[in-house]
Amino acid sequence: MDLLNTLVDKGLRRELPTREEALAVLATSDDDLLDVVAAAGKVRRKWFGRRVKLNYLVNLKSGLCPEDCSYCSQRLGSKAEILKYTWLKPEDASKAAAAGVAGGAKRVCLVASGRGPTDRDIDRVSKTIEAIKEQNEDVEVCACLGLLSAGQAERLRAAGADAYNHNLNTSEATYGGITTTHTYADRVDTVQQAQAAGMSACSGLIAGMGESDEDLVDVVFSLRALDPDSVPVNFLIPFEGTPLAKEWNLTPQRALRILAMVRFVCPDVEVRLAGGREVHLRSMQPLALHLVNSIFLGDYLTSEGQEGKADLDMIADAGFEVEGAGETTLPAHRADAVAAAAGCGGGSCGPCGDDSPEAASVEAAAPEAAAVEAAAPEAAAVADQDARTDLVAVRRRGAGTDLPPNA
Ligand code: SF4
Repeated sequence: MDLLNTLVDKGLRRELPTREEALAVLATSDDDLLDVVAAAGKVRRKWFGRRVKLNYLVNLKSGLCPEDCSYCSQRLGSKAEILKYTWLKPEDASKAAAAGVAGGAKRVCLVASGRGPTDRDIDRVSKTIEAIKEQNEDVEVCACLGLLSAGQAERLRAAGADAYNHNLNTSEATYGGITTTHTYADRVDTVQQAQAAGMSACSGLIAGMGESDEDLVDVVFSLRALDPDSVPVNFLIPFEGTPLAKEWNLTPQRALRILAMVRFVCPDVEVRLAGGREVHLRSMQPLALHLVNSIFLGDYLTSEGQEGKADLDMIADAGFEVEGAGETTLPAHRADAVAAAAGCGGGSCGPCGDDSPEAASVEAAAPEAAAVEAAAPEAAAVADQDARTDLVAVRRRGAGTDLPPNA
């Protein structure tokens, strides 16, 4: 297919596809699905080989949020029966993080519900980062605390945070229909503050909220313009008790096309398969490994993922390998830029400076959410207006409980 050949060529050159090309990926038929996956897989392998980076979520503070993000089980007025607790102590968060690292995670994502942190919250999180790094020197720590105020990004960076996550979630045009208590521009501003402070930016999207193909392409092009180092792709987990509880409008095939489109638009960026993969990709999850180079291990913030061991088995069975602590995730050109922004000048100082042959051979060149009518024809066909309690399980283990985490 000419379209796919063009997209592969562009992806290998890190050249931005046109909007029409990105839209055409989303409009491909199920007959062409494996060709789409194979094409985007070539781009994935060019920049990331067959490595899969594992990330581990620790929910520092769960529920009780004053914001009204429609997709979120922790939102104001949510009736979802999730765990609710306030800040975990640094030692408890460190213990939870250690379980993820023991399971193979390279990055620990410290997440807290809320509009944004107070300065006292930054103190708490700083202590937590220090406690985690004391135990696991090489682990990457990403903070995800909501909207940042002046000076907070610099304080997190000084405390050792390697990255900051704040998702754009959906297109600017539809943002007001999803959330009213803050704006799309607020979100862009926080991502830019994190970048300016020298943290690696992580920013992604949530698909399946009823958005059109145009909206999806808009948000992914906006992300490319923001230039984060990692892009988590969430598929809406329609929690009972939230306004989007009945938005079951994704098929595994559509989820794969979305991931392929993101890979073509952001070829050399860490594309992370995030919340909702088990729920929407189901038995097709292994195919997604040909598109993304990063996943979460184990559970999500307020919902349960598949068993950590099943994640590791899936990676091995599909012919991929878990990325080791000594390997650099990003291609050399990006890793060097991250190192320069962080002020460490590059070199072999840990996660940002790998001079392995693999990294050298590569051409020089930040969850909070576990989670409007889609334009794709299949969306309406699969809409299931019933709750799918068989697919969505609220997290009852790990952080904030007495039970061991799933890692
Ligand atoms: S996504 Fe974040 S800010 Fe929005 S309701 Fe959930 S916890 Fe609050």
